[in-house]
Amino acid sequence: MSTDPRLERYGRQMRAAGIGEAGQRRLLGSRALIVGLGALGTHAADALARAGVGSLDLVDRDVVEPGNLQRQVLYTEADAAAGVPKAIAAAARLHACNSEIAVAAHVAECSGPFLRGLPRRPDLVLDGTDNFATRYLLNDWCAEQRVPWIYAGAVGSEGAAMVVLPGGPCLRCLWPEPPPGAEVGNCETAGILAPAIAAVTAFQVAEALRLLSGSPAPPTRGVFTCDVWTGHYAVLQLASGPAPDCPVCRRERFPALSAPPTDAVTLCGRDAVQVDLALAHPLDLARLAERLGGAVTGMQQTGHLLRFEADGVRFSVFPGGRALLFGVRDPLRARALYDRWIGRS
Ligand SMILES: [Zn+2]
Repeated sequence: MSTDPRLERYGRQMRAAGIGEAGQRRLLGSRALIVGLGALGTHAADALARAGVGSLDLVDRDVVEPGNLQRQVLYTEADAAAGVPKAIAAAARLHACNSEIAVAAHVAECSGPFLRGLPRRPDLVLDGTDNFATRYLLNDWCAEQRVPWIYAGAVGSEGAAMVVLPGGPCLRCLWPEPPPGAEVGNCETAGILAPAIAAVTAFQVAEALRLLSGSPAPPTRGVFTCDVWTGHYAVLQLASGPAPDCPVCRRERFPALSAPPTDAVTLCGRDAVQVDLALAHPLDLARLAERLGGAVTGMQQTGHLLRFEADGVRFSVFPGGRALLFGVRDPLRARALYDRWIGRS
């Protein structure tokens, strides 16, 4: 038994996993960045917080909605009714589960500038995203920063996950370019079974704890794949080194970090578009609320955002000017509605 009362709550974990007191102290001293707080991200964040990973940075651009509650384990009906940003709701819940760790919420788009502006480099990055554009950005940034990251994805009853270490093989070694959006099934078209999420995040979290606790056992090499409906679980072996033509692993070129930002993107499988324009001046929500006045309906302002409805579309506008538009799929129409109701000056 440990003599340190801080470690008492982790006693079973220290014994069962061979983490020991030294490993637990390393967990408490480590920092993980979790990108995306949907089903994957909330499962992983919950597990890492309870396991005592000492500092968690959570980043997500979205707000909680009723349709999330089926599988996104950190949120409540009250969060959905109030449209609380996911990063804020998740951080509050994790603090209630483990007040001894530090949790920072970032309500933001995970972009190159966002990652480069992080005050501290994480020891590990966990992929909880729902799109390949962000995964390739994480792949390239982690390679540049020499930080390990763990890819994870799940659709329908299937899932996949892979540890990517500095030096590769990386995601681009397997697939040089992100697959076109139309070719990738998503939770909307293929549905999602909660146990597929649980299986993939079980792999992801176990690998994370092994890496962060300094275990002598090396990370699993290869791609974990599962189909929880057919009962198929496997680790596909990879070549021992990076692909001969991988720009990231072989030539230290990071294409996703130099790609121009996109200002309007449709959110995965949803009737929603994010508009994030480079505004000349940061938007003042109080002044916007005053200007909109009686022209819109259902206006609500909280410390985190301003919500209202106009032209049959629900707007959630964040300080600074980023906005989510619900009830629209076409980025061009979303940009036009943004200009009409929010404006750029
Ligand atoms: Zn590579």
